[in-house]
Amino acid sequence: MTDYTTNTYYNLFIRQKDNQYKIGNTTYKERVKKLNALKRVVEITYKEKIRQALYDDFKKPFTETDLTEIYPVVSEIKFVKSNLKDWMSRQKVETPMALLGSSSWYNFEPKGVCLVISPWNFPLNLTFGPLVSAIAAGNTVILKPSEMTPHISKVMAEIVKDIFEDNEVALLEGEVEVSQELLKLPFNHIFFTGSPNVGKIVMKAAAEHLTSVTLELGGKSPTIIDETANLKSTAKKIAWGKFINNGQICVSPDYLLVKESIKDNFVNELKQQVKAFYTEEASKSESFSRIVNNRHFDRLVNHLEDAKKHNATFEMGGKSKSEDNFIEPTLISNLPENASLLQDEIFGPILPIKTYKTNEEVINYINSKEKPLALYIYSKHKKTINDIIKNTRAGSTCINNNVVQYSNHNLPFGGSNNSGIGKSHGFFGFQEFSNKRSVMKQHTKGSIEFLFPPYTNLKQKIVDLTIKWF
Ligand code: NAD
Repeated sequence: MTDYTTNTYYNLFIRQKDNQYKIGNTTYKERVKKLNALKRVVEITYKEKIRQALYDDFKKPFTETDLTEIYPVVSEIKFVKSNLKDWMSRQKVETPMALLGSSSWYNFEPKGVCLVISPWNFPLNLTFGPLVSAIAAGNTVILKPSEMTPHISKVMAEIVKDIFEDNEVALLEGEVEVSQELLKLPFNHIFFTGSPNVGKIVMKAAAEHLTSVTLELGGKSPTIIDETANLKSTAKKIAWGKFINNGQICVSPDYLLVKESIKDNFVNELKQQVKAFYTEEASKSESFSRIVNNRHFDRLVNHLEDAKKHNATFEMGGKSKSEDNFIEPTLISNLPENASLLQDEIFGPILPIKTYKTNEEVINYINSKEKPLALYIYSKHKKTINDIIKNTRAGSTCINNNVVQYSNHNLPFGGSNNSGIGKSHGFFGFQEFSNKRSVMKQHTKGSIEFLFPPYTNLKQKIVDLTIKWF
């Protein structure tokens, strides 16, 4: 067993634990002040450093950083600020007749000391997004970003040091071992974003202390396109949703299910659209980021090799350059079901295309796999849309668009079972970092007292009436 008394992480944890009531008792105004400070550094003071760090990590274009890293954090803060007063207020509830003489309410109290473990694909957004919810709910927080994007982790560490004491918020850089050590501590809540496999490790570790968890995981998000969809606009949205961030997005379309009769026309539209975004030579495009590292590059090249072995049709792309962790935007059809691209989450710029004939076929195929994080439907046919929604399960669904559902703070964001447990964003994120504490106050002699022992026939009659009428 690790001797935690000599462990620096344990000391940090204890200092945050000692500070939790002070932070938990902060007012709405004090929390807003912290959120404003975070907003200011992300939006203004550190903006250029953030852009440069993400470019250094995986050549992320500045515009994409603004849109998918800075904007989500800033807009989450704005949304939380305009609602936090309500969320922090006492939530009164009705009192049943049987409890006459009392009043009841609940309030959201902070969970306490929280751990946020985040992935590399949107490192700022997925580290500071949960931090916004945790601060809003009045917690102390230890953040552990991914080791795979060290430049942005360093900048985030500077930001956190600039605006927080480490007994309130601390960011620990470093390898996987840091997360493994942290997971041994009795946190009050763990918010993890990453793969289902590591999610299981996190949940097992949390079980040791009965720590609550939010698991924002991944999976294969299907995208259905039927013959009523507008092929041009569908192609444009899918080319964007699949290839921004080089396809390294938890909610990007993982594979397409295209109605057989429109497959050729649709693939042509999609090819034209990808070229319009990234030119004929995507390696020279300033708008196309890179695979995060060699390990993920090799993983994706293995998928391409596997597809070749299965004699699949490369409709577009397929070439790669290892020196630059570059893989062309790639469209592949005619894959057999046992091809690795149809089995594993892809998380890269490769898009398999399957065809189908009936809606039933689509529904059965989706239900033969784990519940996805997102499911997309491109159709004008109401019945098709309703049938697919009613007969499948998914974390979220977007109709006639993709990925953008992530940006509506009024919607809960998260998966279901293998794609996640718990929800984030806006009120749902605030809830995840809070305990709903119920309070009942007795004002007058309670009616229940009439029923205290010794039990008599009269009391039995009152119980009978209570069951019948209240
Ligand atoms: P990952 O699971 O490999 O790593 C996530 C985090 O866990 C990293 O910080 C990493 O350091 C840490 N980690 C890795 N192994 C660990 C271990 N054995 N013990 C403790 N901690 C460990 O995921 P990733 O490669 O960073 O990100 C890609 C995955 O994340 C994909 O599956 C993707 O779908 C998912 N994801 C989900 C969301 C969402 O919001 N649902 C968002 C982004 C990414």
